[in-house]
Amino acid sequence: MKKFLLGTNWKMNKSLAEAINYTKQLMPIIKKYESFDFFIIPPYTHLWKIKEEIQTANSLLKLGAQNMHEEDFGQFTGEISPLMLKEIGLDIIELGHSERRQYFNETDEAVNRKALAALKHGFNPLICIGEKLENKNYGVSKEMLAKQLKIALTDISAAAIGHFWIAYEPVWAIGVGGTPAETPYVNEIHNFLRSVLIERYGKNGDDIPLLFGGSVNINNASDYAQLENVDGLFIGRSAWEPQLFEEIMQSVKTVIG
Ligand code: PEP
Repeated sequence: MKKFLLGTNWKMNKSLAEAINYTKQLMPIIKKYESFDFFIIPPYTHLWKIKEEIQTANSLLKLGAQNMHEEDFGQFTGEISPLMLKEIGLDIIELGHSERRQYFNETDEAVNRKALAALKHGFNPLICIGEKLENKNYGVSKEMLAKQLKIALTDISAAAIGHFWIAYEPVWAIGVGGTPAETPYVNEIHNFLRSVLIERYGKNGDDIPLLFGGSVNINNASDYAQLENVDGLFIGRSAWEPQLFEEIMQSVKTVIG
């Protein structure tokens, strides 16, 4: 059975002690929710230690990095390569988050190069796309999203289906100050993204997990989760405490089963 995906990106937050504490609290919680696949995406510096905790507990919790350089090694000061992340034994590489695009000039083309490198090294890229408020206001959200998606998926063949996920995160909905998206809007956009994936991959496009993110919280999580083409939720702030994350799990479980 295809499991519903639930995960969180911590961004640049949590000390190592907090990270370990969080992981230790989360692992017993997720055992109670077998119909979900869970993942956490901490800062790079915490990954080795958290991986050790996951292995020691023999937990199914998946672990990801927030970014990756596409080259295996080289003169790229400050960057982290696929080989380095592979040594840790990560599952997921998050790519193209709106903060990477906004503050670090990450382009669709760069996301594509990184996604190809991630797949080559056996990671599951979690490719983030999302339109800006001005795109929405001009009525060109779908055009922007189709462009981001098509460029990000260039040269990624149908054989890779099952090994990459897409997260739709409208930029205007993300983070403190973000406005949660209306459920019908999310429904419309996810249906559209599914049609783009089917146009690109045929019927197999149905098997590509589409996650939704952007101010997901206890009040809206179950509304989003029950939409036909929402296969998971990608959560920031509202999942940064294990107990609050569990409240979301409970709420989503009421609609997912
Ligand atoms: C995010 O940044 O990807 C995100 C979903 O954050 P938040 O839930 O805090 O809006």
